[in-house]
Amino acid sequence: MPHFTMEQVRSLMDQTEKIRSLSIIAHVDHGKTTLADSLISRAGIISAKVAGEARFTHGRKDEQERGVTIKSTGVTLCFEHDEDGHSQPYLVNLIDSPGHVDFSSEVTAALRITDGAIVVVDCIEGCAVQTETVLRQALQERVKPCLFVNKVDRCILEMQMDAEDMYLRFRTAIENVNVIIATYNDASMGDLQVRPEAGNVAFGSGLHGWGFGVEHFAKMLSAKTGGNKSRMMEKLWGDWFYHPKKKLWTNVQHPEDCQEPLQRGFCQYIMNPINQLIRAIVDKDSERYEKMMERLGIVLKGEEKTLTGKQLMKHVMQNWINAGDSLVSMIVNLPSPKVAQRYRVENLYDGPMDDDAAMGIRNCNPQGPLMMYVSKMVPADKSRFFAFGRVFSGTVATGQKVRIQGPHYKPGTKEDLHVKAIQRTVIMMGRGSELIQDVPCGNTVALAGVDQYILKSGTITTLEDAHNFTDMKYSVSPVVKVAVKPKDGKDLPKLVEGMKKLSKSDQLVVCSVEESGEHVIAGCGELHVEICLKDLREEFAQCDFTVSDPVVSYRETVTETSSQTCLAKSANKHNRLYFTAEPLDSELVQAIEEGSVGPADPKEAAKILSSKFGWDKQAAQKIWCFGPECEGPNMVVDSTIGAQYLQDIKDSVGSAFQWATKQGPLCEENMRGIRFNLTEVLLHPDKVHRGGGQVMPAVRRCCFASELTAKPTLQEPVFLVEISCPKESLSGIYNCLNLRRGCVFEENQREGTPLVQVKAHLPVSESFGFVSSLRQATSGQAFPQCVFDHWESLPGNCLEKGSKMEELVLSIRKRKNLKLQMPLLSDYLDKL
Ligand code: GDP
Repeated sequence: MPHFTMEQVRSLMDQTEKIRSLSIIAHVDHGKTTLADSLISRAGIISAKVAGEARFTHGRKDEQERGVTIKSTGVTLCFEHDEDGHSQPYLVNLIDSPGHVDFSSEVTAALRITDGAIVVVDCIEGCAVQTETVLRQALQERVKPCLFVNKVDRCILEMQMDAEDMYLRFRTAIENVNVIIATYNDASMGDLQVRPEAGNVAFGSGLHGWGFGVEHFAKMLSAKTGGNKSRMMEKLWGDWFYHPKKKLWTNVQHPEDCQEPLQRGFCQYIMNPINQLIRAIVDKDSERYEKMMERLGIVLKGEEKTLTGKQLMKHVMQNWINAGDSLVSMIVNLPSPKVAQRYRVENLYDGPMDDDAAMGIRNCNPQGPLMMYVSKMVPADKSRFFAFGRVFSGTVATGQKVRIQGPHYKPGTKEDLHVKAIQRTVIMMGRGSELIQDVPCGNTVALAGVDQYILKSGTITTLEDAHNFTDMKYSVSPVVKVAVKPKDGKDLPKLVEGMKKLSKSDQLVVCSVEESGEHVIAGCGELHVEICLKDLREEFAQCDFTVSDPVVSYRETVTETSSQTCLAKSANKHNRLYFTAEPLDSELVQAIEEGSVGPADPKEAAKILSSKFGWDKQAAQKIWCFGPECEGPNMVVDSTIGAQYLQDIKDSVGSAFQWATKQGPLCEENMRGIRFNLTEVLLHPDKVHRGGGQVMPAVRRCCFASELTAKPTLQEPVFLVEISCPKESLSGIYNCLNLRRGCVFEENQREGTPLVQVKAHLPVSESFGFVSSLRQATSGQAFPQCVFDHWESLPGNCLEKGSKMEELVLSIRKRKNLKLQMPLLSDYLDKL
């Protein structure tokens, strides 16, 4: 039974300073889910006995089977926290999120609606790659971190380490986390470093349900000695040693007047007692542990007296230093929505920082205009979705009429805008949900009845001129594709409908119909696609379909400047356009993809282009458009001099360019990194003869001809692979990578462990089945994580007869049912 009622939850929702929204982030298998269970059991939803095994936040059957968290789930909990003898209630919105890189879009969505993050680090493995990635994501979103150093039980039981060794290990883990934090110098958020003595680091074992911060022991010691708690906390971490003869604390471990070196405060007062108690129980030394338990005031009742071994250890430790308590002590130190929204508003909101929406968000004002961000769509049943997110300003209520603004909404227009009433407001409780009348700002909430109008994310508001919340940035991209086809042709509508739902349920999956009529699903990696297909088959489409082998996306690019100026004439022969193509600097391409150079701010873009990329100032101001999708990494630059009627055709050139860059001439893949220079135009003086219908096809052909004359090639996506393994497995890893065109570029011995960490690049096209063959080659010792890293140009010339590149282009054309022949320049290039 929960220890709290819905009435309590609702009343706490109004006390903004008592709310904490947080996500738990970590590398896969470092123990997030287990730790979330400790926290949930502390709130009383699941009984303490099964904490560590219940996996409450894992609502999906496949999650329970696989034992990894796939979709992040929200849980709203209430806690009492003891503050100087007074118990204070807190409302905690907890979002569990997956650690596997293929699902890192889920992490982004979780971070967006939280103000704090508990970073879980396995103390044996240390701060791993994915920890680093998600921590960076968190800091970018201005989410404040705290740290839980997990699996300490393994140091004690398996590795039998002594207290000082554990201290050193913990210190390394903390330092590694702080190095990452230090690179984000964000004055608005204050000091972000995690420090045990500051109360934002805890240690423990999620699996056994115990944990502690130094505060817990400082409280105990200061109560005993009558000292000050904060001062005591400082002595319980770092180089502080208690000098028993002089009865004072010193920084010197081995003072001259002592025969033996002194014990570190952290070891003497914390780690040693824990170590001794656990050892005594495991060694069945009942005399010793009973004495210790008595001193700690732990009394066994009824059936508990029959407990022995591990069960007894868990019970005693949970009673003494409960993991949930240690987490709550850290959580209350994280910022409340009122504090966090003050500095987060700049990152969250797209509109001017002084409009009503921005003010409402900044002040977390429940009376302000409603501003809610929907960060994800959560399946409610087989056909409907909840829109899950957070209210940042105002109050959302059942029956309220709201504006639902999609990602393409532009203020002042009706594009991507729906005005509807909210059917129901509910709060998420892991596997279930609870009805609630209304929810004020600072809280997470799920809405029913708006799923037709939101694809993946959106802004919900009552303010007519509110802008959107800023779109989320993802650190991965969908590069692995499969084509699906219903086994029974009659099921096609079911499949199409199912793909629409799939697309809603997952931030990153892209479902599309190719020109050839194929239905294609694109995801970030093999595992991601596999899960999407399973969802499609069992939940969303409920019909049988065949799946093609996975294929990867390519990009078309150029490596030189066009060997000639290309001409295209309009069909009526009255207009002539001249283009050349040339490659864009690869750093610039990245900057465009990251959004730091782009159409949003042309002045800024021009400044960066001339100062950083050596562009001519005039040219930098004459970028007509980016593409595909108006923001892609290709552009048209107007290089004409004194051309007449030029402005009249700007829109038509833009549209044709979007079309051309979406499907290039080689094999209808997106173009990437091409600059098209419009060098000259001769247009008919009469408007009727130079309309879009005349200009567009000519521009498209001219772009194609320019690409083909600029030594075109394909770019393939490349994964960054990170593998942790014992040294003996290294040769197996190298063999496996060599067979797949992979190359290792970094190898690090992991300090204090027998493990080596290998970083390599691996073409995505070679990655299918990589995980299982790596396991085979290393007898299951190596676990790789692959995440999209960059696009790599393939060597060679596509247009050289009989070359490998030609072969690749033709194979893609074949798969897409295109003409089995290389594109000919003469098809696109016109003669005078
Ligand atoms: P997640 O992938 O980060 O959610 O990690 P899980 O919570 O699923 O845990 C991964 C594995 O580590 C599971 O087998 C857990 O039983 C184990 N584990 C989690 N916490 C601890 C811990 O504190 N000590 C030990 N020894 N194992 C743990």
